[in-house]
Amino acid sequence: MRHHYSRSLVVSNPEITEVRDLSTGEIRTVWDVVGEDYEKALQTRMAMKQSNEASTPLLACPLCSVPVHMVSMSKERRFYLRHETEDGRCPFRTKGGLSEERILAMKYDGARESAAHKRMKDIIAESLRCDPDFSDVEIERVWKGEEANGRRRPDLRAVWKGTLPVAFEVQLSTTFLRVIAARREFYLREGGLLFWVFNRFDMGNARLTQEDVFYNNNRNAFVANEETLLASKTTGKLVLDCIWSEPSISKGVVTWGQYNRQVSFDELTVERDRQRVFLFDADAARQRCMAELRDWPLREDFRVFWAGMRNRYDDASWLALRKRFAERGMSLPRYPSDSDGLVSLLDTLYSAKAGRPVGWGYADLVKVAHHVFDKHKGHLWAFKLMLAAHGRGPKIVAEDTTGKWRANKVKAYLAAWSQGNPEFAPDRRHDSLVSFLFPEIATDLPKRPS
Ligand SMILES: [Zn+2]
Repeated sequence: MRHHYSRSLVVSNPEITEVRDLSTGEIRTVWDVVGEDYEKALQTRMAMKQSNEASTPLLACPLCSVPVHMVSMSKERRFYLRHETEDGRCPFRTKGGLSEERILAMKYDGARESAAHKRMKDIIAESLRCDPDFSDVEIERVWKGEEANGRRRPDLRAVWKGTLPVAFEVQLSTTFLRVIAARREFYLREGGLLFWVFNRFDMGNARLTQEDVFYNNNRNAFVANEETLLASKTTGKLVLDCIWSEPSISKGVVTWGQYNRQVSFDELTVERDRQRVFLFDADAARQRCMAELRDWPLREDFRVFWAGMRNRYDDASWLALRKRFAERGMSLPRYPSDSDGLVSLLDTLYSAKAGRPVGWGYADLVKVAHHVFDKHKGHLWAFKLMLAAHGRGPKIVAEDTTGKWRANKVKAYLAAWSQGNPEFAPDRRHDSLVSFLFPEIATDLPKRPS
């Protein structure tokens, strides 16, 4: 934060530099509280004094939680903050006596006393009690560790599915993430799971957040508020907002997009050993992106060869490609047509990718689809995944003027898959090559068709 010292109405060396806003739980600086407008500063000073008199203070010392008031030095027209009652024990008075970490921990504990923090705890407790997967929901119960002096007091704790104790910590600001990060070790040792919940998550202002939360939690963060509480009550599950980052490749570099939606806890992946809970596996996605970038030249060379081989088959180019694939542990046949079904499979998948027939002599994509159904049932699974990955559904529907594809064929193969009909079982012989050439379906390809 930048202070305009020249215009500041704060004394030059204030003892109390930060205060806690008791309604929001946020930490504010004395420069922010006093501001740069003399008249407004006097009004703030009056409001603080009145609220302290009424025992509903607005601002408190973030270390000792004693309410503060604003002192005016009328001659200099400057202000500073002072404890409402001063007994000399506050670390702000005895600078140097405490480590930075200890001061941070004190601020963190103090922040739990704000109205916003209390409401958050109630929201989460109430949401947890809606969800039969959670039991023994308790607010601020001490969690005793195995080691001497090993104790924590999480905002909430609950037991998930009767086995995993989960500590929920409410975060109103990113100020205290370091404290929380240090505590992950404790819960890891104790066989528990630490789960962070925010009241809001500002991705635009997430530099610190990205470093602390995202990198420690697979770029997923969770928010609880009145709306998620309502959703928890409606669904009978713990519902939260999930905010996550997703990588994609654009012009040869990985870029991260931000997404969010409501999720129920049972949708999440829990990795206790890494103290992570996430909806979207950003690490895995990033690895896929990196692999995709690394392999892009070979993938592109293969595509170009394939697209041109009907016009002019160049055997030397094929052999060169074959060698490069062999170096990566994938064997290509001596000639493309040597391998049973390979040509039709790749033509089909390149067609789905392009949104029009590639290699095939058909007029449109839906005719390719009919042909795949009639002649290459083992390719339907990869074909369907490619259509989905490239959003070709609407195109097929538009081309399916007779409705025969949707009404007959789609129904037939879905039924055959659910019945485990061997005639429709995916042809797995080319899975590794297909995964390499079409990384967009590599995750789902090995799965059972559905
Ligand atoms: Zn204090």
